[in-house]
Amino acid sequence: MVVSTINGTSPLSHSNGTTIPLSTFSRNSFVNVEKGDPVAFRPYWEKVRDECTVEIKGDEWMSYLGDTNNLCWYMVPQMRDAILRLHNVVGNAVTKDKFLVLGTGSSQLYQALLYALSPSKSSHRPINVVAAAPYYSEYKDATDILQSRLFQWTGDAALYDKDEPYIEVVTSPNNPDGTLRVPVVNSGVEGKIIYDLAYYWPQYTPITDQLDHDVMVFTFSKCTGHAGSRIGWAFVKDIEVAKKMIRFVQLNSIGVSRESQIRAAKMIGVICDGYKNLKSIESDHLFFDYSKRLMKERWEKFKGAIEKSKVFTLTKYPTSYCHFNKDLFEQYPAFAWLKCLEGIKDGESYLEKLKIRTRGGGRFGVDAKYVRVSMIGTEDEFIELCTRLSNAKRE
Ligand code: PMP
Repeated sequence: MVVSTINGTSPLSHSNGTTIPLSTFSRNSFVNVEKGDPVAFRPYWEKVRDECTVEIKGDEWMSYLGDTNNLCWYMVPQMRDAILRLHNVVGNAVTKDKFLVLGTGSSQLYQALLYALSPSKSSHRPINVVAAAPYYSEYKDATDILQSRLFQWTGDAALYDKDEPYIEVVTSPNNPDGTLRVPVVNSGVEGKIIYDLAYYWPQYTPITDQLDHDVMVFTFSKCTGHAGSRIGWAFVKDIEVAKKMIRFVQLNSIGVSRESQIRAAKMIGVICDGYKNLKSIESDHLFFDYSKRLMKERWEKFKGAIEKSKVFTLTKYPTSYCHFNKDLFEQYPAFAWLKCLEGIKDGESYLEKLKIRTRGGGRFGVDAKYVRVSMIGTEDEFIELCTRLSNAKRE
């Protein structure tokens, strides 16, 4: 088996002495771009690893409680301050006059929000939950897993025509297709909207507005790539909604790991310090500059491979002015959304034959001729993906 390493990076060493090769990828194995594991930014964190090291002593962070003066009592003040500072640096959300609710990943907050936004009287029918197709593949299963009496998955928001209460999830930039989104439901009844802003960070899209919605959800996973820390947060305008979400997190996991909060606060602090000391630092040392350049390079390579293949078409993205980068730039989404040309009905099966594992359109509520490809995996996987795609020929 060929064990390759990424340009300039070495095998992953853990502080307990074990080393795992970064990738065990060989030319005969599958290139797995099915999941969205955000490991692409690891080389950056490797460069600043010493600045980011967190030491937690045996007697520290034992309590369930983070800050009893805060409505979100399990959130430690360092975490709260880091999140507010990050949004202040990036300028992607208005945080004033909102309640900050922390979750074990934004996945937990999705569940907490469905609970908090559903009508509380048991006499009500389950509230309809919709998102415009293609929608993030996990919403459907996450909504229906417990077959709740409070809410139910109802599918594509664009097809919703009931005059009944609903919750619309607006993911912008969208997973899987990277498009910028607004609510689409056309109903006589006023709905509740969850803005899932997992990808509203400067490496993926120009920051065009400081968003100011009633419910905005963010995740540490896609911001820095530290998905394993399981940190997500929501800004919520209505205190009653925030209280219900916090009650859900209390019953579901009695808060959020304090160790994770301390580590996430440290990483966010390193990012923000970089932008504060802008003049004394080379731009490669600034996280969003580094990660945006990486995404741009990957997209350029990827587009070249798709053009060569003559098998797929790609979504086109607009160029906009980014208030954070103070420049015009295109979107570089975390996923590529491919449409097969005439004659190929099932993109996932077609790519499976080329030993490329992807997620097919059906999982996102659309036709099987679409497939989603992760752009945020390891470098060697990405390079091999481009090679295989550029060699793809129509059957
Ligand atoms: N929302 C969207 C749109 C996502 O793509 C993801 C991760 N793939 C999540 C939410 C969940 O993220 P996490 O639970 O890691 O915060």
